[in-house]
Amino acid sequence: MPREEAALAREADRRRTFAIISHPDAGKTTLTEKLLLYAGMVDEAGLVRGRRNSRSVKSDWMAMERERGISVTATALSFEFRGRRINLIDTPGHQDFSEDTYRVLNAADAAVMVLDASKGIEPQTEKLFRVCADRRTPILTFVNKMDRPGADPLGCLGQIEEVLGIDAAPVNWPIGPGPGRNFRGVLDLTTDSVQVYKPVPHGATAVPTESASRSAARGTLLSEEEADHLDDEAELIRTAGHPFDRERFLDGAQTPVYFGSALTNFGIEPFLDGFLGLAPPPGPRPAVDGAVPPERPGFSGVVFKMQANLDPRHRDRVAFVRVCSGRFERDMEATVARTGEKFRVARSVRLFGQERETVEDAFPGDVIGIVTSAGLRLGDTLCEGDPVRFTGRWSFPPERFAVVRCDDTNRRKQFVKGLQQLGEEGVVQLLIDPAKSSLEPILAAVGELQFDVVKFRLETEYGTKAVVSPLPYSSACWMTGPAAALARPMLRSDVRLVRDRDGSPVLLSTTDWALRMVREQNPDLTFDPHPPSG
Ligand code: GDP
Repeated sequence: MPREEAALAREADRRRTFAIISHPDAGKTTLTEKLLLYAGMVDEAGLVRGRRNSRSVKSDWMAMERERGISVTATALSFEFRGRRINLIDTPGHQDFSEDTYRVLNAADAAVMVLDASKGIEPQTEKLFRVCADRRTPILTFVNKMDRPGADPLGCLGQIEEVLGIDAAPVNWPIGPGPGRNFRGVLDLTTDSVQVYKPVPHGATAVPTESASRSAARGTLLSEEEADHLDDEAELIRTAGHPFDRERFLDGAQTPVYFGSALTNFGIEPFLDGFLGLAPPPGPRPAVDGAVPPERPGFSGVVFKMQANLDPRHRDRVAFVRVCSGRFERDMEATVARTGEKFRVARSVRLFGQERETVEDAFPGDVIGIVTSAGLRLGDTLCEGDPVRFTGRWSFPPERFAVVRCDDTNRRKQFVKGLQQLGEEGVVQLLIDPAKSSLEPILAAVGELQFDVVKFRLETEYGTKAVVSPLPYSSACWMTGPAAALARPMLRSDVRLVRDRDGSPVLLSTTDWALRMVREQNPDLTFDPHPPSG
């Protein structure tokens, strides 16, 4: 292997790029804090939360980030740990749960699924899991809140298998949770050894740990009663559980499961060790002409998130790019695969709150922000050398529709520009009814909330008040087929034929029944609820 390629392979190989999938309140933020704490990136936990809630803490944290080599690109947290570069891609959750949340998963090589031990699989966990499963993303599971009464480790394993349909392979097992007992540590099922923890105030520092083999722990680290109980459970788990199978894990068919409490730090270290040992480095990424390996010498990357007006002082757009192959260097010339256009990437940044820091280079697995004025779209591939075009799901079947208009004739230009930019960012999909004015496009989204976001952003960023009126449609289908068949009029009042921004025909229907009738009457057309990718 030539020297440059070997160096590239080495850099790619030490990257671990992942996202956390969870339902709000399961403990994503707390676990993130504790990963930083155990990685030695912060002295005391509590800083990630501070970042979310308070402006002043936020800037302190930013200063600290720079000192310690943690960096944030608004969508990714990046830090060094035991010779690895860890990139944690943020999955926006909570109220701002939207298509963006699904989309950013395209940028991750692995996912960590955080469950609340007494709630198991919750709706948002399941939705995000399905997106990962679609791409066969390897998933590690952390069953959190084992310190809480009501924690149900067996129930969680059962739900993973029954609700999600993948094997659960417990790597460790909690010691002590249950009525009248406290969660004290974990049994490592691989080595049959016990780790028992001593609590620290507020979980602010790493917890002192004592370890022994299961037999030696009896009467020393564990009481006779605890040891008896653990023996019974270990027996049960060993016969009932799935043994860990690396191939099945990498294929997304099995998840290794770890138990712990992010709040008290119990079980964090074994989970981190497990993560470092199991999470895969960047691998080949699926592309139109075959998968592209990270050691492909030319740079390539994919735009997985767009954000305009991140900073009101700058008024520009940032395209977040996940590097897929080669080495990115600032000032390089890259081609936008969709259009064949070339551009010099002069402004590659990492964002620290309101400030930006130039990124000089990046390797497969890394995330960079590229400041552009225009020309890039969500899902675009940027590449050097022979053209490549990555595949992936960037839009999801819309279920809500509304017509949007601007009554203030003086602000129409800003209205059109704003909508176009929000469309490019993927906040909503824009559809046009050819029979209507282009000033009244149709917004299509996965959730209602996205319409509020459009209204709010049009007003605050483009100074235009928009009127959004819901439409009665419940689904959209992208139609393909012979031109003559596509031109056939749809003589039904419960469907409507519109176009997407590329001019492709899209059928909106009010009911499944209406859609079924249209399909039956047009057997020469195909109907796909998924917008075309890339
Ligand atoms: P997120 O919404 O998934 O980011 O969840 P957070 O990390 O903000 O946690 C939600 C709530 O659960 C907070 O009040 C945390 O303090 C609490 N929490 C998180 N982890 C644990 C845990 O291991 N045990 C207990 N008892 N509470 C926890």
